[in-house]
Amino acid sequence: MSKSNVIEERAHVKLGPKDCVLGLDIGGTKIAAGLVTRDGSLLGRMHRSPTPARGTSDRMWEVVVKVCEKALAASGNPKIKGIGVGCAGPMVWPDGVVSPLNITAWRGFPLQRRLKEHFPKIPVRVHNDAITMAAAEHWIGAARGLDHALGMVVSTGVGGGFIIGNQLVDGGLGNAGHIGHVVVDPTGPSCHCGGRGCLEAIARGPSTAGWAVEQGWTPHSKEASADAKTLASDARDGDEIAIAAFARSGEAVGIALASVTALLDLDIAVIGGGLVQSGPLLMAPMRRAFAYHAGLKFQKRLRIVPAELDQTAGIVGAASLIIKSSNYWNPRDE
Ligand SMILES: [Zn+2]
Repeated sequence: MSKSNVIEERAHVKLGPKDCVLGLDIGGTKIAAGLVTRDGSLLGRMHRSPTPARGTSDRMWEVVVKVCEKALAASGNPKIKGIGVGCAGPMVWPDGVVSPLNITAWRGFPLQRRLKEHFPKIPVRVHNDAITMAAAEHWIGAARGLDHALGMVVSTGVGGGFIIGNQLVDGGLGNAGHIGHVVVDPTGPSCHCGGRGCLEAIARGPSTAGWAVEQGWTPHSKEASADAKTLASDARDGDEIAIAAFARSGEAVGIALASVTALLDLDIAVIGGGLVQSGPLLMAPMRRAFAYHAGLKFQKRLRIVPAELDQTAGIVGAASLIIKSSNYWNPRDE
C-alpha cells in the first residue's frame, strides 16, 4: 500500500447519530454483513451466506458482493461512511491482501483494493477476524471498560487479539494475538502452521474430536458425524472419552492463558467460538489448569469469561475499525 493510501486509510471518520458503516465478516464457513451505527448496534438485519466450498476466486468475490448488497438493501440502502472487514488469515496487513487457510480460492486476493473499487470514495479497512472479534468484545461486549484484554476464539481454529492500554495491538505485520500457535506441549502433535505442540493443534474443534476418535469414541447417534458438536452432545450424555477430550483441550487453553497473562498482565480473557458453547465441559478444566499454572498474584487476577456477543460480533468488530479507529485501527505509515 502506498504511503498516501495508508494515510488516507488512517483518517478518522466522523459519524453522526444516523450514519453507519458496513461490517463484513468473511470466514471459512460463512460470509456475513450488516450495517453498524456509531454506538455499535446493528441497523436493520444482517445478511449471511455460506462460503462457497469450491470455485474460483471470482465466484468467491461475487458471493461477498452479493452479501454486502443484500445487507445494504435490507436496511434501505443508506449511505455508508466506510467498510470494515474481519477476514480469516493469514493476510498482508494493512494492505488487506488475503490468503485465508480455509478459503482456498483466495491466495493473495486483493480484498481491500477490490472493495474500494466496488464502493469508491469511502475507507475500507481489513483485519484478521479473531482481532475484530476481540475489538467487538472490548468495545461493547464482556471486556468493555477494561484496559487490558485478550479476546480469543476456540472453534475450527484457535485465534485471538489483544488490547493493551485501550489500544488494539497489531504487531509488526498485523499478526499479534495468534494465541493458537503458542506452544502448550513441547511433545504435542504437529500443527498445520508448521510448528509443533501449538494450542491450536490440540484444542481446535477437529483436533478435539480427532483425539476422541483415536481413543475409541464413536458418535452415540449413528447418523451424526464425528465432529466437535456431536462430541459435546455425547459428553453431556456422560461419555467418558468425550468428557476427557474436552478436558484435554480446556486444559491446553488454561495453560496458554497462564503464559499470555504472565507476559501481558491482562484484566480479562474473553473466550468465544463453538467449543465454548459446550459450557463447563471446556471452561471448567480450563479454569483448573489456569489456577494450577498461574503462580503470580497479577496472573491470578485474570478474569476468564465467555464471550457476550452473539454471531454479530464479527460484523460489529469489523465496523469498529472505522467507527472506533482511535482504539482499533493504527497501522504505521510504512
Ligand atoms: Zn501452530
